[in-house]
Amino acid sequence: MNPQEPLIFELSVRDRRALEFPACDAQSPEVEQLIPEKFLRKKLPQLPEVSEFDVVRHFTRLSQLNFSADTNFYPLGSCTMKYNPKINEKTSSLAGFTDAHPYQDESHLQGSMELLWNLEKMLCELTGMDAFSLHPAAGAQGELTGLLVAKKYFKTLGENRTKVLVPDSAHGTNPASANIAGYSIKSVPSNKRGRIDIDALKNVLDETTALVMVTCPNTLGLFEDQILEISKLAHEAGALLYMDGANFNALVGLAEPAKLGFDILHLNLHKTFSVPHGGGGPGAGPVGVIQKLSKFLPTPRILKEKDKFKIMLESESTIGQVRAFFGNTGALVRAYTYILSLGHDGLKDVSENAILNANYLLSQLKDLFPPFVPETCMHESVLSGSRYAKDGIKTLDIVKRLLDYGFYAPTIYFPLIVPEAMMIEPTETESKKSMDDFVSALKTIAQEMKDNPQTLKEAPFTTPVRRLDEVLAARNPILKWKQ
Ligand SMILES: *Cc1c(COP(=O)(O)O)cnc(C)c1O
Repeated sequence: MNPQEPLIFELSVRDRRALEFPACDAQSPEVEQLIPEKFLRKKLPQLPEVSEFDVVRHFTRLSQLNFSADTNFYPLGSCTMKYNPKINEKTSSLAGFTDAHPYQDESHLQGSMELLWNLEKMLCELTGMDAFSLHPAAGAQGELTGLLVAKKYFKTLGENRTKVLVPDSAHGTNPASANIAGYSIKSVPSNKRGRIDIDALKNVLDETTALVMVTCPNTLGLFEDQILEISKLAHEAGALLYMDGANFNALVGLAEPAKLGFDILHLNLHKTFSVPHGGGGPGAGPVGVIQKLSKFLPTPRILKEKDKFKIMLESESTIGQVRAFFGNTGALVRAYTYILSLGHDGLKDVSENAILNANYLLSQLKDLFPPFVPETCMHESVLSGSRYAKDGIKTLDIVKRLLDYGFYAPTIYFPLIVPEAMMIEPTETESKKSMDDFVSALKTIAQEMKDNPQTLKEAPFTTPVRRLDEVLAARNPILKWKQ
């Protein structure tokens, strides 16, 4: 691996080519005759001139710089970077799916529609919801869709509810989505046990509340164990209860959200159901609702009439379209494959093992990095490195050093309510051995803090780039190659 892989432009040599096309022997007008002068380039585009082998080697080397769950332990809290079984790739690349076009005649799409229809039903069964829309392309878009469904519902009832209550431990996308949906947001503090403070909730819950949005399990990796009371309070106030179920991998097969009182939820198929995360997509954040909200779900919808599947393009009460056609079908085929290959009992094992692994790591690390709430966790735990801050070592330094030991850094400084937070999610597929290696790396780092704190300040040493100025990179991204 060359850690200093140059840009492909830097590999360019004048007139080098990957392949040469034969001269065109058909009679055709010159480009200049076809395209108006003002649209023609004055200068040739500055494309890299490289051989086929240069291209293959360059991109293969770049691909080897990738860090992924396929290469190393990836304990990113909240984001659930779990193993994506390769059979998912096989099914989703079947020509019947990849070559299908949504404008094809319905009669040609029966197989794809049946799969999507079945997946909706499976998600209903797992969550206890009555209907699902598979359209949203990500968790955050699922939230927005769910919020718009709630908005339309209250509008139909003639109720003017303007406020969404969001616990301070919620995922950051929750208040953002509520804001985009046109609601005002009221934050509800957590109590010492990292759960919603019920008295504080009562204080802000009133007839202007549209939804109480609960991340479940919450971002501290804890089950909201007063959920039945929260549900009762929300419903008594006429509000709906929303579940951010992005991290359903702690509950699948163990608890049905509808039975906990939730009216709307979204799931992240790219977390729980082993669909790969993309850089901003394509993921899938399906939204499930209880019966009275189902008519507001986005269109188009797939209906089953006798043995035939039909597309319903429009409906009177829908919130409309949130995504082209049926959503990210490739992601949906992967999730469907995952569900079928594990079956009901297998899915339950997923949650149980995710919880077991997270608690194993917690038990091994709690002396070094005390958890924010010293309790059994669900699929992830939130530890704190604040005891090292007095020696000038930040959690950032610790996880940068982890990169040198071949581990991806856990999520840090989130949730915001935990000082020097380190949020660790091993996922169900990791072995005890890989978790032990991770613990041992953190123990070595703890020793280095005492013996050689400067190492931590300067780490990482072995990565293609060292410490980046992340703020500058975000504020002033330089995305163009300058010659
Ligand atoms: C990941 C996550 C989201 C956002 O999902 P995206 O697919 O990244 O939009 C929302 N809530 C929780 C709890 C999450 O973990």
